[in-house]
Order: sequence, then C-alpha cells, then structure tokens
Amino acid sequence: QGGDIVMPIRQLAPDVAAKIAAGEVVERPASVVKELIENSIDAGASQIRVDLMHGGLQLIRITDNGCGIVAAELPLALERHATSKVERIDDLEHIRSLGFRGEALASIAAVADVTLLSRGRGAEQGAQISASSGQILPVTPAASPEGTTLTVRNLFSAVPARLKFLKSRNTEVSHCHHLLEQYALAYPEIRFSVFSDGRQIFATKGDGALSSVLVEVYGLQVAEQMVPVHSPEQEDAERPVISGYTSRPTCYKSTRQHISFFVNRRWVMSRMLTAAVEGAYHSLLLTGRHPISVINVQIDPTFLDVNVHPAKTEIRFLKERRVFAAILRAVREALLEQPQMPQWQARK
Ligand code: ADP
Ligand code: MG
Repeated sequence: QGGDIVMPIRQLAPDVAAKIAAGEVVERPASVVKELIENSIDAGASQIRVDLMHGGLQLIRITDNGCGIVAAELPLALERHATSKVERIDDLEHIRSLGFRGEALASIAAVADVTLLSRGRGAEQGAQISASSGQILPVTPAASPEGTTLTVRNLFSAVPARLKFLKSRNTEVSHCHHLLEQYALAYPEIRFSVFSDGRQIFATKGDGALSSVLVEVYGLQVAEQMVPVHSPEQEDAERPVISGYTSRPTCYKSTRQHISFFVNRRWVMSRMLTAAVEGAYHSLLLTGRHPISVINVQIDPTFLDVNVHPAKTEIRFLKERRVFAAILRAVREALLEQPQMPQWQARK
C-alpha cells in the first residue's frame, strides 16, 4: 500500500512535467491530427492534406496553404503558452479561433519528434525548425510552398506508458478518419485529402456545399436520405441559429457516433445536444436506432465557455435550455416537413 512509502515532495524535472501535461492534450494520433487541423483552419487554409504512416505512430504530416509563420516566430510556435490568437483573458469570451491555449505544438513536441516547415504569405523563402525529445533545434532556411507543413514522427516512442494503451494501426487510422470526416462536415469550403500508408482514404471537393461532403462521408444512398435542418432567422442575439442535415427515420445507425455538432464551427461532443436531436425522433425511431445528423449551432460567443477541457471538445452554454429547445424544434420540423415519411411514422 502507498501509505508505507513516504516520498519527499519534489519539483518535477521540466521534461517530465512537460510529458505529463502533454497527456491531457495528446491522447492518441487522432488528437495530434485534431490540433494540427485546427491550426490549419485557424490559418485560413483552403486545402489541407493529411498523411499517416502506421496509424500515425510512425508519421503524421499535415500540409496546408494557410497564412504560414514567419521565420522569426518559428521557435515561439513550439513554446508552451505561446499563441497568436489570444492576448487578454477577456478575449476568451468572444473567441472565434479554434485554438487559444497555445499548448498544442509544445505538447506534441514533448512526446514526439516535430518538424515545422513554413513560408508566410509573400515571404521570399521558407524556414524550418525541429524539436526532438523536447530539445528545440535552431531555425534554418528551407524551401517551402506558401503555407505550413508539420511533420510528427515517433509519437509516444519516449512515453511507453501511453504507447501501451494504443490500439492497432487500423483502429488509430479509423479514429483519425472519423475525426477528419467531422472537420470536413464542419468546413465544406476546405478541400481535405487524407492518405494512410500512401493510399488515399478520404477526400472532399472543397466546393462549399455540406451536401457534397455528406456524399463523400456517407455515400450517395445515405446522403439522399438526409433532409435539411434550419431554424427561423435569428431575432435576438440570445437565440442560437441551427442549420445542417438529419436523416429520415428510415435511415439510421446502431450507434450515436454519427450525430455531429459544430458550435460556431467547433466540433463538440455533448450529451445534451445529442438528447435534443434524439428527442426530435421520439416515436419515429425504435430504441437502439440512431439518426445520422450534422447540426451547426451559431451562437453569440459570449454565451459560451469553450475553455472547459484541454482538448476543447466540451463546451458550456450559458443558456443551455434554449439551445436544447432550438435543436429539438429545428430537427423535429425538418422531419415533419419532409414529404416521403410514411403515415404511421408521422402520427403523434
Ligand atoms: P494555439 O493554436 O492555441 O494558438 P498552438 O500550439 O496550436 O497554439 O500553435 C501555436 C501558434 O503557432 C499559433 O497561435 C499560430 O500562430 C502558429 N501556428 C501553428 N500552426 C500553424 C499553421 N498551420 N499555420 C499558421 N500558423 C500556425
Ligand atoms: Mg492550436
């Protein structure tokens, strides 16, 4: 029992502390992909390419055509609590960017070998910086297209405790794949392409239409079973605006995994929002059957707290019931409006 061993309180060595802190942000390859994709989106990219080797454990590379980073700022990008997105604490109240913690790149660099290659818009040439086992190496000039390429190698190779918990290569690939589908649904105007061990596994056109991403993610047959969801025009700032698509009751899945929410274009998980969607299917779906839904919520950011969890996938609403009610109503109306619904389902 622990009681027998009395250890003195000690300050952790910086690299040990960094690895422990990184655990909150970087759980598996998909969490690295998530942070890097968010950075590319924040950088205004219209094209994002993702390469995975061996489920991301060997290599994760994200290439974007966003605004890039100037050479002089490359070392800062890898520092903890260094960000270009937030300056004062009140900024968090009306945050529009996906990132704000300034922690992702530092955390990733604590548990993997990272190379950051970038060329800022209009810059003559690119530059690159690498970090290996937490050691940051000097910036060197390097040829680069406009935008940023971030390469992560040997993820967790120095963190055996974490490596042990990872699943097979295929499981990690499918986590990354699911995540990228979610971001593609949230950002139909961005062209995504995803490769696993050199083979393309997912791609979107980037034509701006959610319906065309639905086809890429779920296939034409399912996409044809989706009906548009929309709330009435916003009357007051407190009223969330709902948009998206949801499946006819004849089209369903056996898990809730395909009910996606984007709040101000941030992918979030929420039991409350899921319950609102499923509530709208009350009496339309048998138990054990779940809809496919993509629900966008636009809301005044002052009614949100996005800083709840390091991975930023949980948020808090100031007026939770209003959001619940708005989603329930919008989805319910979408289902009732659609003409092909069989009579027995439309009753009640
Ligand atoms: P955060 O996203 O919270 O600011 P990160 O550690 O993810 O923190 O990134 C640190 C900084 O590096 C960002 O604020 C941004 O200025 C810069 N950066 C990271 N990735 C990119 C990218 N793909 N394109 C342009 N700038 C980037
Ligand atoms: Mg970030």
